[in-house]
Amino acid sequence: MKDHKNLWMNVNDIEEDIEDEDEEAFIDNEEDENDLEDTYQPETTQTQRTNFFNPATGLWDFPSLSEHRPKEEDDPALQRAIKKRLAVFDGAEGVVRDSKGYLTGNNPLVLFPPVLEDGCLCGAGYSDDDHPNGVLTEVKYRTVVYLTNGPARFEVFGRNCLAGNADCQVQYGGSSDSLHFLSKETAAGDEIGWDFVDHALNTHVTFSAYCKIMSKKYRRNFLNSAKFMSPQTFIAWWFSWSSKFKTDFRKPCSICKYNPKFLACDGTKIGISFKNADTDPIEKPTSTEKIDPCHRRNDRCFLNFNSQEQQDAIIRKCRDHLAYTSKKALGQLNQTLEFEEELNRNTLLIETVSRQCSDIMRRFVCNEYPESVQKKLAVIFKFLSTNHSLSSLIPFRYTDLLDSILLELRTSTQNHRINLISDFSPEIRDTLYAALPYEQSLSDVISLFQYLVLRIQCIREKNKEPAPAVRQPSSYNPERYGAAYYFTPSGEKLRDIPIYTMNESAHSKNYDDLPTRSDEQCNKIYPEVSRRGTTYLFLWFDPKHYGHCYGFHIIPGSEGRKDPFSSAYSYLEHAPEEVFYDFSCQFEEYCLNREPGFWENTRFWHDLFHGYSHKCPFCYKSQRICPLQGLNTEICEQFNSFIQKIKYSARSMSLGKFCFYLQYMIHQWCEMKRSSFEQRCDIAAAYLA
Ligand SMILES: [Zn+2]
Ligand SMILES: [Zn+2]
Ligand SMILES: [Zn+2]
Repeated sequence: MKDHKNLWMNVNDIEEDIEDEDEEAFIDNEEDENDLEDTYQPETTQTQRTNFFNPATGLWDFPSLSEHRPKEEDDPALQRAIKKRLAVFDGAEGVVRDSKGYLTGNNPLVLFPPVLEDGCLCGAGYSDDDHPNGVLTEVKYRTVVYLTNGPARFEVFGRNCLAGNADCQVQYGGSSDSLHFLSKETAAGDEIGWDFVDHALNTHVTFSAYCKIMSKKYRRNFLNSAKFMSPQTFIAWWFSWSSKFKTDFRKPCSICKYNPKFLACDGTKIGISFKNADTDPIEKPTSTEKIDPCHRRNDRCFLNFNSQEQQDAIIRKCRDHLAYTSKKALGQLNQTLEFEEELNRNTLLIETVSRQCSDIMRRFVCNEYPESVQKKLAVIFKFLSTNHSLSSLIPFRYTDLLDSILLELRTSTQNHRINLISDFSPEIRDTLYAALPYEQSLSDVISLFQYLVLRIQCIREKNKEPAPAVRQPSSYNPERYGAAYYFTPSGEKLRDIPIYTMNESAHSKNYDDLPTRSDEQCNKIYPEVSRRGTTYLFLWFDPKHYGHCYGFHIIPGSEGRKDPFSSAYSYLEHAPEEVFYDFSCQFEEYCLNREPGFWENTRFWHDLFHGYSHKCPFCYKSQRICPLQGLNTEICEQFNSFIQKIKYSARSMSLGKFCFYLQYMIHQWCEMKRSSFEQRCDIAAAYLA
């Protein structure tokens, strides 16, 4: 404060006009977070702004008196400024409390622009040997500055050039003292902004809770201290402060970059409705094009429906019997059929399967294979008794590999490439290994897999191409669309959602067509919308490295398979190769019924998420595939718990503001995770060196 001493004036000169409208903020109002009005507009805004996002720059800006970029947490200039502020609290000479509990001086505490080295417009300059401290203007305004330990009243001056030329006058914005002015009445140090960020990232704090904490802290220091800002004022202060960093949030994982190959997604309830939220649901068609399914669940499975409907009942019976026989071979049955009945069903099954599979089916149901082969085959047939897509057992992108290995096995059993099969199906690899010593078994097993490969290739041929990815200008606008995705540098939408005729004939939210047996239906209890205007949040993130978040969209209603589908199809140039979703087993059906070409190279997994048990086949368990075992399941939980924390603050905001808040906090979280991830990698690298 030494520097300021010569500028302290007589405290009696302060007029009573300091009783401004901010005083209302200190009236003790114990309002609930939910009731908060979000209408605060700083005096300095000439016109009432309702848009804070600039689609041209992709940046946000909430209005405030200060326009400078706040200091980063570790900026030494911020530390110097804090030290100076603490001196005020420490009872720098003449600092007292006024009758309302504000820190003030025997002479007023003052703020003014530093002496400028550069010349001024008129050439007189801001200082010379006779005026080393330059010349200040009269008091421009009187401000309450919220310090860490109490509120203080300051008088704010501008700076004149030595000639007093009006054009050369420099106004005080707070940059030199790491202060952010919301308005002429309200300012706080950058440390307050950072302090709130810390609280938000690590606790469930809301804006109003933070204000209460600060007020209590003030009173612990001085019993009659004035309170911290009101929640409304603090929200306005923090939003303008954080937006002045001008951060472009469109950042990808530092390792995967854009178009990541591994992605996980999940939805979470935010709670009550936003004010004035009229966002369109992401699945709402944006083109008039109609798309019929290329194929459906029962076309993509082993025992597929054919054109005659009376056959469907037989197919269903055969699926049940195949499940029965497989379980029998695996010793999973408590009760077996009468001999005669089993014989009849065996015959029906053998007659019903494709001619290429009738031999293996006959030998399997008659238990003719060596036990080791019989057991491994039973695992495969148990899956084949369902109506899940054959491509979940042999993904489209692996059919050529498997086909070539099978061909080689026809001529030589000395094949080292069999192990490659475990990249997509350890079960197929095991079956082949079990059959290798037995000529007949091997031949039958190869035929079965060749048949499956052929079937999958036929399905693939019917896949329609996705619409081309075309950037839609101005479509990155989180404030307007309630969505912010960082899959591309521009964050723009790449595809329209057409009209999927499948939507009308779908059985339910969970299934377009039902899984074969009711005991195999994985039911995701998608939350129903209980109250009008309830909103959910859907997020995509990278499960491979530090958990980078690739953005989100707001769901005006409740989550469904439509959400992962529509967000990926609209914003991703290429579908991920591996997708993790807690309802992937049925999400796959949704994708293949609508845009099979887009999802052709995707594998669907459901096991990164806990607290949801599946009854579906092993095909959706990523843990059986070695290269997928190293995924960081912790990241999912950490990311989820982080989202749980920050969504609390949503309740007092408009949708647009909440989007900024999410983007800002997600960015901070990702940066934090990235830097600790990089540190760990460095340590590992040093260890290995
Ligand atoms: Zn001048
Ligand atoms: Zn990554
Ligand atoms: Zn499932």
